Amino acid sequence: MDTAMDQQEEFRRHGRALLAPMTVTPPSHDDDDPRRRELRAWLVEHPNPTGSELADAGLVAPHLARPWGRVADADYQLIIDEELERAKVHRPINPIGIGWAGPTIVYAGTEAQQERWLPRLLSGEEFWCQLFSEPGSGSDLASLTTTATRDGDEWVINGQKVWTSYAHLATWGILLARTSNEGLPHQGISYFVCPMRVEGVTIRPIVDMTGDHAFNEVFFDDVRLPLDHMIGEVNDGWRLAKVTLGNERVSLSGEGVLWGRGPTAADLVEQVRATPMTLSALERDELVRCWSHGEILRLLRLRLVSAVQAGREPGAEASVRKALADDHGQEVMNLAHRLAGSSGMLTGRGPGGVAGAVGSSWSFGFLYAQALTIGGGTSAVQRNIIGEKVLGLAREPDATR
Ligand SMILES: Cc1cc2nc3c(=O)[nH]c(=O)nc-3n(C[C@H](O)[C@H](O)[C@H](O)COP(=O)(O)OP(=O)(O)OC[C@H]3O[C@@H](n4cnc5c(N)ncnc54)[C@H](O)[C@@H]3O)c2cc1C
Repeated sequence: MDTAMDQQEEFRRHGRALLAPMTVTPPSHDDDDPRRRELRAWLVEHPNPTGSELADAGLVAPHLARPWGRVADADYQLIIDEELERAKVHRPINPIGIGWAGPTIVYAGTEAQQERWLPRLLSGEEFWCQLFSEPGSGSDLASLTTTATRDGDEWVINGQKVWTSYAHLATWGILLARTSNEGLPHQGISYFVCPMRVEGVTIRPIVDMTGDHAFNEVFFDDVRLPLDHMIGEVNDGWRLAKVTLGNERVSLSGEGVLWGRGPTAADLVEQVRATPMTLSALERDELVRCWSHGEILRLLRLRLVSAVQAGREPGAEASVRKALADDHGQEVMNLAHRLAGSSGMLTGRGPGGVAGAVGSSWSFGFLYAQALTIGGGTSAVQRNIIGEKVLGLAREPDATR
């Protein structure tokens, strides 16, 4: 599919369209900015940098402390993003490692742990997964029952995790396990790094309804971990889990409705306008409503980016935006699916794998969008947080957060 016309024809005939990530034009920067000049010089010396070269230069996760990053504020991060994009340089792909595990190891790991794990995590040579959710513990994560029992110089892990994205590709996983049953449930959890290819770890695939295999079940049968695989102190894992989950960077680019990727409501309007089809009054009303929601979210996002650039914590807007954006993603995909008519049932598989997890068609997006209101904390739980932390409503009686 080479041209926009071809795509539109495809949508008209089969209810499918390629998903193009939307980009927001970042604020323009002075070409003479010394940070920009330094980067351009580095890119001339490294026209095709490897993951290791990017990691060594602190360009993979520039917001991290040195030597792993460049302590880059939001403005500097934008400059780095722009210059890498201009040079067509792609960062290594290791979303859970770079986004979540790495910052937690920087925060609480010893120097030896940082030296051991961070270079190959940042370079993408070792892929990471997150072993948090269990069959009976998702939203109520603190109730997890996987155990870590001390046996001499080792911890012995037993239990089961579920929905573990990319476990089958990972070398390492960040693992929450129970080390004590005393006190409140969250007071007996510790935080470990677990090798994924050792005796006692069994990984079973879960194929989701898009047809992709990203999730897994992971079983631990007497998996033995050396003592230095614990991050932080015994029973301090809940605090570190919050560090991990709080580390999702406010996305400075990409406002597609599938967690920042894929199309927007405006793209759907564009597609409809370019397609010779007659909308009913109801469809027209829904399309306008959907576009309006998209605009509100776009403005909220710009407020968030501005807040971060001004050095302020995003605060309430971030929770509000996540809850609204996840519902909106389903709104856009459901509407696109219905407008496409019966041909909207035709599935188009995305490229699959890590980079292409979002897929390449509206029908794939429709199926994938069902995950939006579950992953990263369900929408119901987000609304609980807004109710308690933003509106000051009473906490749920059994809440342990
Ligand atoms: C795309 C995707 C990727 C994921 N990747 C990972 C991963 O890599 N590693 C990992 O550990 N996990 C992963 N997860 C799991 C995810 O974190 C959990 O699915 C999520 O936390 C919800 O938990 P649950 O599925 O057990 O649902 P439950 O917590 O059982 O929720 C079931 C329903 O009850 C509602 N509910 C629960 N508690 C409350 C409450 N207090 N108030 C009101 N309603 C409530 C929920 O909103 C939901 O509708 C992933 C999930 C998705 C969708």
